[in-house]
Amino acid sequence: MSNKRFSLALHGGAGAKRGHDYAVEIAHMRGLVEAARDRLAAGADALDVAVQTVVGLEASGLYIAGKGASPNAEGEYELDASLMCGSTLRAGSVAALQGFKSPILAARAVMEQTPHVMLAGQGAIDFARDQGLEAVEDPASWFTHAGAFEDNHPPESSPLGALPVGTVGCVVRDAEGRLAAATSTAGVFGKRPGRVGDSPIIGAGAWADGHAAVSCTGQGEYFIRTAVAAQIAHRVRFGGESLETAARAAIQSVADLGGHGGLIAADREGNIAMPFASSGLKRAALLLDGSIVSEAF
Ligand code: ASP
Repeated sequence: MSNKRFSLALHGGAGAKRGHDYAVEIAHMRGLVEAARDRLAAGADALDVAVQTVVGLEASGLYIAGKGASPNAEGEYELDASLMCGSTLRAGSVAALQGFKSPILAARAVMEQTPHVMLAGQGAIDFARDQGLEAVEDPASWFTHAGAFEDNHPPESSPLGALPVGTVGCVVRDAEGRLAAATSTAGVFGKRPGRVGDSPIIGAGAWADGHAAVSCTGQGEYFIRTAVAAQIAHRVRFGGESLETAARAAIQSVADLGGHGGLIAADREGNIAMPFASSGLKRAALLLDGSIVSEAF
């Protein structure tokens, strides 16, 4: 039975740098939470709200998803996105998509218009074009790369690529108790062409079932190896853990391998967890008591 309460969380990426002022992003995230709250109060579906919120994050240019995408090692923009509907277990995903403004809308179209879950590379491009999704005519002038690094120079880091500061995602528990998750990114800065991270991998960078919805950000290889997003839902479902305990254990499994990152999660009751094992996590949430939090550290 639903209790007519709803909640949601969104993130703008792990890797926030200490000392940097994220006031613009914090205000932007709060605005998106308020807009999502109003839609949920009017009875909107969890999946619609998750997608609309990620579209807003992608379009802002403030994060490394969508307009703010960071380039790969050859200066190309290869975008990844995924979403999952907890009440139907339907999912959609695109990997290494080039030339479109909203990867999350392409992922949704994969879910709704094909019998498949994931399309990658040229196949994803052809499909997005066939769907009439909005194309980027001039990548060099469209992608702002804004905010990936304060000075546009990534710090030296692991061979996996430096962790930028702006994969985006959203998890929602709507008034009917439905859960949904969505994640979108350009991936780690300077990645090898063709590299696919966790964000479009169902079960790693995003997951939603009847127990939990999760969206991750961080060094994707570690999140894939620990199946973080599905791990949380399974801990809740099969292990009887609280969402908070499950989310902390899952992010610890990333840290135990030497990885960095964070996540947002919601459970069927509408509890929210947002742990991170990184310098920060730009995140915002509408909690069950109606309060809104928006912060970077
Ligand atoms: N998880 C993303 C990836 O590995 C990057 C990020 O979250 O910043 O592609």
